[in-house]
Amino acid sequence: MTYEINKTYFGFKLTQKYEIKEIDSIAHLFEHEKSGAELLYLKNDDDNKVFSVAFRTPPSDSTGVPHIVEHCVLSGSRKYKTKEPFMDMVKGSLKTFINAMTFSDKTIYPVASRNAKDFFNLMDVYLDSVYFPMIYDEPEIFMQEGWHYDIHDRKDPLKCTGVVYNEMLGAYSTPDAVLDDAISASLYPDTCYSFSSGGDPDVIPELTFDDFTNFHKKYYHPSNSYIYIYGDGDIDKYLEHINEDYLTHFNKMSVDSTIVVQSPQSTPSHSVKHYPVSDDETVENKDYLALSYNVGLVTDPVEHLTAQILKHALISSTAAPVKKALLDAGIGEDISASMTDGVHCGLSIIAKNTSEDRKEDFENIVTTTLMQLVQAGIDKDLIRSSINIVEYDMREASRFATKGIIYHINSMQSWLYSDNPTAYLEYNPILEKLNALLETDHYENFVKERILGNAHASLVILKPEKGLGEAKSNKLAERLQVYKDSLSEQELDTLIEMNKKLQKKQLSPDTAQDLATIPKLDVSDVNPDVERIPQDIEQRHNYTLLHHDIFSNDIGYADFLFDLSTLPFELVPYANLLTYLITKLDTKDQSYVDLTKEIYKHTGGISLQSVIYPAKDTDQFFYPRIAVRTKAIGNQIEKINDLLIEVLTRTELTDTKRMKELIQQAKSRIEMNIIQSGNSVAGRRAMSYFSPIAKYTEHLTGLGFYWFLEDLLKDFDKNVTKTC
Ligand SMILES: [Zn+2]
Repeated sequence: MTYEINKTYFGFKLTQKYEIKEIDSIAHLFEHEKSGAELLYLKNDDDNKVFSVAFRTPPSDSTGVPHIVEHCVLSGSRKYKTKEPFMDMVKGSLKTFINAMTFSDKTIYPVASRNAKDFFNLMDVYLDSVYFPMIYDEPEIFMQEGWHYDIHDRKDPLKCTGVVYNEMLGAYSTPDAVLDDAISASLYPDTCYSFSSGGDPDVIPELTFDDFTNFHKKYYHPSNSYIYIYGDGDIDKYLEHINEDYLTHFNKMSVDSTIVVQSPQSTPSHSVKHYPVSDDETVENKDYLALSYNVGLVTDPVEHLTAQILKHALISSTAAPVKKALLDAGIGEDISASMTDGVHCGLSIIAKNTSEDRKEDFENIVTTTLMQLVQAGIDKDLIRSSINIVEYDMREASRFATKGIIYHINSMQSWLYSDNPTAYLEYNPILEKLNALLETDHYENFVKERILGNAHASLVILKPEKGLGEAKSNKLAERLQVYKDSLSEQELDTLIEMNKKLQKKQLSPDTAQDLATIPKLDVSDVNPDVERIPQDIEQRHNYTLLHHDIFSNDIGYADFLFDLSTLPFELVPYANLLTYLITKLDTKDQSYVDLTKEIYKHTGGISLQSVIYPAKDTDQFFYPRIAVRTKAIGNQIEKINDLLIEVLTRTELTDTKRMKELIQQAKSRIEMNIIQSGNSVAGRRAMSYFSPIAKYTEHLTGLGFYWFLEDLLKDFDKNVTKTC
């Protein structure tokens, strides 16, 4: 059916309809008349259909209630009776995406599938979960997913546990999570962004069952929801179903979920925070320094993208002058930039593995470098190459296979703040404007006004503290003991009883009757044809060329694979080391700064990566390769050849100072990864003792490689003459 403006279909009134060329879609904006729900439908011929329902969920404390509600609603609903319908769908559906995410001010529930029946099933499970969850009738869900007092015998000490509680204990043990929270709180102290929506483990136990259910009651109402449908599906059927089974049960109401914008601050704030480290870790040069500025609002795409472009051009790219100046002065092992989540654009410059004593140098170097750039004018090529990166990101939907998910997340950047939901999807005029502004002093003025002359700023110092984790758990144990002592024997027995009930529920499998409520596909619902990617194979004199002629939004991709299998085992880590150095060092023709600009001016980047392809059905044989990947828009693809020859054959391995910087950066990024996903690092290490492919991987890119870097840096000046 073609829908007409101002007409109502299945309870939904169409308020706007227009074409979005950039994403080859017709946007339809509906309002559900009875319940007040808004619905954005992007009609196009993509069979990778997406459905999502989102809610505005600004927290007013750090108990993590938005995150806990997100977990809990997926644990059983009116129609879907198993303990975890979400996990059942993860296991049993043909989904191309399924997840739920809590952001600092919203919670979203997106699913995607290319199979029409599966898509409908997923959509229904999610709608039933968010609007009619079992959380009110089964307090065990909150106990399990949120937090509860864990006690099984009167003599035992009281403990605190729960899925979100434990998840956040893990998150808060990483410096990055602590720093992110501290930056948001420093810039936006009077808003929801000063709280942790995920939950601070010190505060989570303050959340009561009533506060939890009230949060759901208040915010998970259609009047506060944003429904999104993308793709080639049967929209009549979806609208009819959403109306009849869900929205018609609700009446429109006003939900106060307004996102408060921080009023401008007249003096920069200064704060010191701590992150836990173990007793055997060194604390020397392990501080973080973060200088942050509130530079605008996300509701203005030009303002927001200007900040993104400058972030890349001046701070985070290989050619970035602020990064270069800070590294040259030896401030930090790695310099990075980040932007806050939410309605504000908060831009941060972060020095990692540094020392608090360098804070004046850090601030001075940042401001003098920026001042010089404003005075002399920022190199246009540097900005142009960063605009290119933004353009690739939009055209490629952040390189995410299920594009509709990225379009949804991008739509929420304006929709959530009551603005045009497709402001970020209609990106051509925005890119044109950003390019046209290159001819003016827009970028220099932005730096001058929004960074240098902006008092709405902060300096956060993050320091390691030995014993912090232990001190916190001791304090908690004391608190729990005081609480336990305050309980009567009868109250204690009630707690024990509740734990018993929870344990019983956890240990008993879903009944056949409950399992039968989970929708399943029949074999006949699945298309038996294998989708084949078109491929031409051509044998050139000393290599094989594969060519795939597929739609790629006018972007040409070229990958080159180089065989590593003849490399002696002891030299394998050096191959991976090269992937960190090539494109970031001078070549015989130009400096690395000019090279970076040249690469991003003509291409979407050149990346090098070590990859290992396993042989079919065995881990005894494998094919190790260095992959050099690049891409370019339209006819720029021809320029790729020259650039590749330059970086692969004319890179100078002589600037040892620069090499040391890059190796230090690589090492600290790997360290961060080890801290964040220690379990998989350990798993891969364990595998390496019995699987040949895992052994090789470990040596090439795993802990073996990390130790190789450590050794290299220990006596770098001596080692470098040996290896070059
Ligand atoms: Zn979680």
